[in-house]
Order: sequence, then C-alpha cells, then structure tokens
Amino acid sequence: PEPQQAGGASVAIEARSIVKTFGQGPTALRALDNVSVAIRENEFFTLLGPSGCGKTTLLRLIAGFEYPTEGAILLHGDDIAGLPPFKRPVNTVFQSYALFPHLTVAENVAFGLEMLGRPKDEIAGRVSTMLDLVHLRELGNRRTDQISGGQAQRVALARALAPSPKVLLLDEPLSALDYKLRKEMQIELKRMQHETGITFVFVTHDQEEALTMSDRIAVMSKGKILQIGSPWDIYDKPADRFVADFIGESNFLAATVVRADGGAATVRLGSGKEIVASVAEGHSPAAEVTVVVRPEHASAVKGGGQLSGTVENVVYFGTDTHIHVKLDGGGAFTVRQQNSRSQSCGFDVGDRAGIEISDDAAQVLRD
Ligand code: ATP
Repeated sequence: PEPQQAGGASVAIEARSIVKTFGQGPTALRALDNVSVAIRENEFFTLLGPSGCGKTTLLRLIAGFEYPTEGAILLHGDDIAGLPPFKRPVNTVFQSYALFPHLTVAENVAFGLEMLGRPKDEIAGRVSTMLDLVHLRELGNRRTDQISGGQAQRVALARALAPSPKVLLLDEPLSALDYKLRKEMQIELKRMQHETGITFVFVTHDQEEALTMSDRIAVMSKGKILQIGSPWDIYDKPADRFVADFIGESNFLAATVVRADGGAATVRLGSGKEIVASVAEGHSPAAEVTVVVRPEHASAVKGGGQLSGTVENVVYFGTDTHIHVKLDGGGAFTVRQQNSRSQSCGFDVGDRAGIEISDDAAQVLRD
C-alpha cells in the first residue's frame, strides 16, 4: 500500500532523516542536517531558503545526482537508493536550461523520448501536445539559438515534461528571466502543473515566488527544514523568528506569558497591556517569549491602542502607507495601512501614535 497522509493524498517523494555531508574530518560540511519531508502527489511543492541552506542538495539527492550520507529517499514508498538518475521517473529543469543549439525546438522536446526508444508517431504526437502546453506551437521548426530567453525556458520545460515524469524538479528555473517575464512564467508554471497533474518540486530563494505559486512550502535554513505548510500557514503562522523574518515583514515584540491555554496565550507587552496570541500546535511557551505581528494586522490610532510611541517615518507606497513608530520604552513597530482616495493616513513625522493590534494577529514564536 502507498503511504497515506492525513489529507488522504498519496506521498510521491519522501526524504527520511536525510543527512548529507561534503568532505571529511574537521572541514566536513553538513549541507543537510536530518531533513524529513513528504511531498504529495500532484502537489506544487517549494523548497524556500537563502543561498547555501541546502535546497539544491536536497533536489540533487531526489534526482540521484548525489547520495545521502544517512537516511533514505523514497518514491511512492520504495527506497530508490539503487536507481541511477536516468532510471528514476524524475526529471530536472535547471536554471541554465541548456538546450541543444543545433536542434530545432521540436527536436529538443523529442530528445528524451528518442532516448527511450519510443515509436516515431508516438513521439510526434507527444511533441505536439507539449508544444501546445507551453504555448509554442508555431515555433516547432525554429532553431533554439533563434528564440528568446522566455521561449527557451518553455522549451526546457516541454523537454522535461515530454517523457511524463512522475516528479519534475525545478532548480530556480525563472531566475534568468526579467521581472515581467518571470511573473508571467510563474502563472504559466502553475497552470502547467495543474494541467499535467505531475508533482513539481520547485527551488527558490524568492519568498514572493514561493507564496504565489506553491501548494505547500518547506522553509529551510542552514541545512534544516524549519517549517512546512501552505503559503497561508507560513505567512500567518510562522513557527520561529527566522521564518517570520524571511517571509514578509514582521514586528517582533518581547512579551511575558500571563496564561497559556492550548492554542492561545495571554501575554503582557512591554507597555503593560495584554493581548491574546496564538501558539503553534504542540508548543508550550516559556515565560518570556517573542510574539510576531504583521504590519498590516495593526493600525495607527490617535489615542488608545496596546502600544504607543512617536512617528519616525511615513512612507507612501501607492496602495498603502507604512508608518514607522518608535515605541515608548524602546523598540520600533511598523504599521501598514491601506490608502483611501480621499484622505491621507493622518500621521506626520513627530506625531504621537497609538498602535492597535487586531484580534488574532499575534503569534508566539518557538524559542
Ligand atoms: P543556492 O541558492 O546558492 O544554490 P542552496 O540552498 O541550493 O544555495 P546548496 O547548493 O544545496 O545550497 O549548498 C548547501 C551547502 O553545501 C553550501 O554550503 C554549499 O557550499 C555546500 N555544497 C554543495 N555542494 C557541494 C559539493 N559538491 N562539495 C562541497 N560542498 C558543497
């Protein structure tokens, strides 16, 4: 039987307690430090983290270009340690998509199928379907040194998808594209994943890209996975300070726990005022904690609020305004307010401001 997850979806790829070290002795580098993750079938799954956190190493282990020092990689429940890369039902799209320049677009797409020795008419049909999928039907006969960067990226995708891999690995495939093309390709990639039903494992260091494209995200730092969840989970319920800091903007407040009760804790802020903050499942907060509040989950008010201070900076962004407040008693807090057409945010540098934290906005971070 295939391994099942709580949601009922089958697991496509599982990394189980993976350790990967490069080198030996005192200079050995632990690129992955006990990483476990189960990626579901038909999922758009993203590995997100700063440069050097181990994203590419994990992808290369799944592809079979590297072998784990400890732990196992399972495909539909089977250990695939013995399978060389070309025997794994997995394909990779790299940042440098490396098309064959002397071949046409169609010949590039056909390449993997020809290596597999598929019949000619099957290959022709499949190439045509793939060119439709990536919206390049007209360019089949064009040589790949005569197409744009965005088109080349689509050809690379079509080539990788043509042999119908069970899993497609994508290592920062959009990072060579300019901003506008990148935004377009984000939507296109998501559509292709949806249309093909293939599991995508996508690597990026771009938090916005991860939030907009993924079904689930694993946030990595220094060879460890810190949190796995939906974009909503990761943004609204960051497990620790690294995740809260890496994804979106955050206000961090020192607080003292007054009462903790399951998923919530009443905490006292530096101002002496109390707020209710949510607590991650299975986490029992210490007496002294840090809570995080997103800038858009608080507002600046003329009197009252749980915190108070002096406005240090007001920055207009078109859709919203960021009000930076220096808190009485130390520290700073940024509020992000939606702009309205008829009036300004109502605060100038030097004004006194209260900060009203919305109900349900605060989260206690893991120590
Ligand atoms: P980036 O976004 O910069 O590609 P990454 O998160 O993908 O970073 P990895 O490429 O997985 O990070 O690298 C993780 C760590 O392992 C880094 O410190 C890197 O220098 C090291 N590393 C990766 N491959 C090797 C190798 N073949 N030999 C030695 N060290 C390596």
